[in-house]
Amino acid sequence: MTARILVVDDIPANVKLLEVRLLAEYFEVLKASSGPEAIETCETSKVDVVLLDVMMPDMDGFEVCRRLKSDPATSHIPILMITALGQVTDRVRGLEAGADDFLTKPVNDLQLMTRVKSLVRLKMLTDELRLRAATTRNIGIEELLGRNFPSQETAPKVLLVDERQNSFERIQAMLRGSVDLDVATDPHAGFFQAADSNYECVMISTGFADFDPLRLCSQLRSLDRTRFLPIILVAEAGEEDRIIRGLELGINDYLVRPIDPHELTARLRTQVRRKRYNDQLRASVTQTIEMAVTDPLTGLHNRRYLDSHLQTLFDRAVARRRPLSVMITDLDRFKLVNDTYGHDGGDDVLKEFARRLRQNVRGIDLACRFGGEEFVIVMPDTDGPIAEKVAERIRAEVAHLPFSVGKDGKSIDVTVSVGVSSIRKGADSVEALMKRADLALYEAKSGGRNRVVAKAA
Ligand code: GH3
Ligand code: MG
Ligand code: MG
Repeated sequence: MTARILVVDDIPANVKLLEVRLLAEYFEVLKASSGPEAIETCETSKVDVVLLDVMMPDMDGFEVCRRLKSDPATSHIPILMITALGQVTDRVRGLEAGADDFLTKPVNDLQLMTRVKSLVRLKMLTDELRLRAATTRNIGIEELLGRNFPSQETAPKVLLVDERQNSFERIQAMLRGSVDLDVATDPHAGFFQAADSNYECVMISTGFADFDPLRLCSQLRSLDRTRFLPIILVAEAGEEDRIIRGLELGINDYLVRPIDPHELTARLRTQVRRKRYNDQLRASVTQTIEMAVTDPLTGLHNRRYLDSHLQTLFDRAVARRRPLSVMITDLDRFKLVNDTYGHDGGDDVLKEFARRLRQNVRGIDLACRFGGEEFVIVMPDTDGPIAEKVAERIRAEVAHLPFSVGKDGKSIDVTVSVGVSSIRKGADSVEALMKRADLALYEAKSGGRNRVVAKAA
């Protein structure tokens, strides 16, 4: 794991010290000796994590943090603040300024490396999501990120897996009022509970009499539903080896007993804030992809989707020696509808046609708006005679019941012509299959419209 770390401190010896340690772990190191310099570096170079000293003349670390976090161009860069030992108030101020994590001076080597690595991992996930969002959406990513994310004020929903009553009761007391906390005392039950509910973080205590807590971490990491669920390990002093193994398994953070209530809250909030941000990005990527393959008028898939998916369905059918049919439908004399009832009237017909189409095909069939008033339906596991029956049913559904157009719901008769083709044994291709369906459609049109023509396989 390599990444660029920006070290910010006004005292050159402190910068040097951190630089040496980071270089030993093969990180790339950038340096800044003041707040303004740090902000400029973040704006002009790629920075993965900022190590930020709090005590600096002119602009202190809190102010630097606040500025970086309020600029959409830099707000996604994780910030690790370095505070003086025992300054709990500093941590709270850092948290308010938006810091992602804290370290206290003198900086402990294990803590430095685990915190930095954990933040680098988070940054990489965010980067990947940002990249996907940017490639699928041409509008500015900054606009997307600058949006107000769902309120950070709602209490985080957290699961604590801990079998020792005195321990979980103490944690419950610390979090009362600020966190929506559930407790699972049995780790097996806790695993299912985590998988079944929408928790935003899981805390796992290491103090089980008869269970390896890291097993639960690895189970949560391997299940799809919980892969991105943040995990905080609550360890005992002296459990460094276990913490390191936990970090290798993908836990996001850890706490060492005795637990400081402020630190507990700060770490929980950091994990939940990150998760909400990434969930939002992921949802937006998914939504963008959906938009790119959906026809806005009818809600059916569009031609781009058909083009990318038909080959897959075709190859699968050939490999499994299963039949596959396609039908192309084209509304008859549709130009006349537009000419008589206007473009909006035409759109009403297209929407209603798409609705009837959807009702008359199976869930596994792929219905697409191919363009204009042409639609394509791909039917896996369907041979020619059955496809022809389906096509005939659709034709009849259109012809038998008039369509209503316009605001006053005027009833008009609509008909559709359909061409059907099926995969041939021996050499065949997607192009040839589509060509045959198109030819069949042409025959249906020239034969008088309102009819189905199938090309026998
Ligand atoms: P045929 O029976 O031979 O198919 O005749 P037709 O009039 O349906 O065929 P033609 O291809 O000449 O006309 C199709 C019309 O569909 C022309 C075009 O303006 C209209 N059209 C294409 N897309 C849309 C759309 O999204 N909305 C509306 N309202 N009309 C559309
Ligand atoms: Mg046409
Ligand atoms: Mg037409």
